Amino acid sequence: MEQSNKRTELAAIGEFGLIDRIKSGVTLQNKSSILGIGDDAAIIDIGNGFCQVISTDLLAEGIHFDLSFTPLQHLGYKAVSVNVSDIAAMNARPEQIVVSIALSNRFSVEAVDALYEGIMTACKDYKVDLVGGDTTSSRSGLVISITAVGRAPKEKIACRHTAKKGDIICVSGDLGGAYVGLQLLLREKAEFSANPNMQPQLEPFAYVVGRQLRPVAKTSLIYELADLGVVPTAMIDISDGLASELLHIAKGSRLGAVIYEDKIPIDRQTYDVAVNEFKLIPSVCALNGGEDYELLFTIAQEDYEKIKLHDDISFIGYMTDASEGCQMITRAGQKVPVTAQGWKHF
Ligand code: ADP
Ligand code: MG
Repeated sequence: MEQSNKRTELAAIGEFGLIDRIKSGVTLQNKSSILGIGDDAAIIDIGNGFCQVISTDLLAEGIHFDLSFTPLQHLGYKAVSVNVSDIAAMNARPEQIVVSIALSNRFSVEAVDALYEGIMTACKDYKVDLVGGDTTSSRSGLVISITAVGRAPKEKIACRHTAKKGDIICVSGDLGGAYVGLQLLLREKAEFSANPNMQPQLEPFAYVVGRQLRPVAKTSLIYELADLGVVPTAMIDISDGLASELLHIAKGSRLGAVIYEDKIPIDRQTYDVAVNEFKLIPSVCALNGGEDYELLFTIAQEDYEKIKLHDDISFIGYMTDASEGCQMITRAGQKVPVTAQGWKHF
């Protein structure tokens, strides 16, 4: 990239544009670097038929979390989940994490203890080891950066760009919950600042609030798919919403896709909160909400029999030719294009 006096606003190219720009200046020099920028995790050849996968994610206060309604234990847990989810999205098993934190003097030793309590609980749940990190000061609140490392046999790795035409599109768990949970938390916060005597009324919404504050990565599915003898043809984790992730798989694989609105898995509580509390369309929350940390993946048609009875997997559509684009068949039977904004950082 040449130096010049030209100034381009980050908003002009957006997050994905910026990553593409960085990627265009990168040439991989080592034979062991099998896959660099562009997937949920990088793939490194470690010999003997195995690969290591590495992913990093940074959470910044005020951007990714709001400490006025996020307990530090939950934040620690979530920070690990987000990273382990990227490893699972490669169909790999997470093994280690390193955790770096930047702290302002607003934080006490006890606050850091609480954060690490959540981190260590997650390490136990995901069977990963905390093996290092870095600690520094910050002028603008808390920043947590976690890097996760995992491993898989080379032939089991699932990338975003390897789906085939006719593959069945699958999704784990249910979607949209984290988004409506966030809307509830933001609403309670606004009401509390207007009336500090108010008591939060979140107990009836425990499921969706939990989906937002303390998501659980679907590493379990990786082990189950291995037991069932299924290797996804492509996989991605749902951090930015179903629509954005589906477009990543389709674009990366140079294909199109058809999904069915009535097949998108939505929990009862998510549905009720979306409709009754916010007058939102539940499937739109699933498509554009984000932070569900479920897995979106494709399988070859012949593998369908092996997983069709799995109670945590929904089959929502199939991959088509690129010329057909990404379409959703609505409940009313209309064909609408799937579009995504993802999270706008800039
Ligand atoms: P995810 O949502 O799965 O965390 P991102 O959209 O953050 O993925 O990143 C997409 C790809 O771009 C990943 O391969 C990631 O490693 C890479 N990437 C993101 N930011 C940078 C950066 N500043 N420098 C180099 N690579 C980056
Ligand atoms: Mg990222």
